[in-house]
Amino acid sequence: MKRFNDFTDERYKGYCLHCAARLGKMRQTRDHVPSKVLLDHPLPDNVHVVDICEKCNNGFSADEEYFAAFLGAAMYGGVNPVPDMFESARRALRGNLKLAREIAERVERFTDEDGISRLTWYPDLERVRSVVVKMPGGTHFMSWDSLAKMSRRKCSFTL
Ligand SMILES: [Zn+2]
Repeated sequence: MKRFNDFTDERYKGYCLHCAARLGKMRQTRDHVPSKVLLDHPLPDNVHVVDICEKCNNGFSADEEYFAAFLGAAMYGGVNPVPDMFESARRALRGNLKLAREIAERVERFTDEDGISRLTWYPDLERVRSVVVKMPGGTHFMSWDSLAKMSRRKCSFTL
């Protein structure tokens, strides 16, 4: 089993970073920052995790599946999973036909001024927002010390 480092800032430990529920008595889970659906497998060794409550994690999981499926469909021009599509999109579109149908129902075909047939993909903005807003929240909860170490590894930025 792969081990991940918990970079939760000490001041926030014990609370769900998304709903602020106290984690002591409730079941808690670990959330990857950034979301696993945006990472290639195998996951890098230095993926960061923060503690969140099970309810929030389950809610995000559904939104993350949608986010990956939508990105894959829009990038590859359809909801049929193709080999070049990134893994989480392929898995979501292959394994969740209801989700694929929902995405396909929100596509509009139009002909541009050059006579070329094109598609416009309309996402469920609430689900996309859920995933996009979650990531800076997770990053904020990582300790400044771990962020400083990451920054030093990737560029010459100094805190
Ligand atoms: Zn929560």
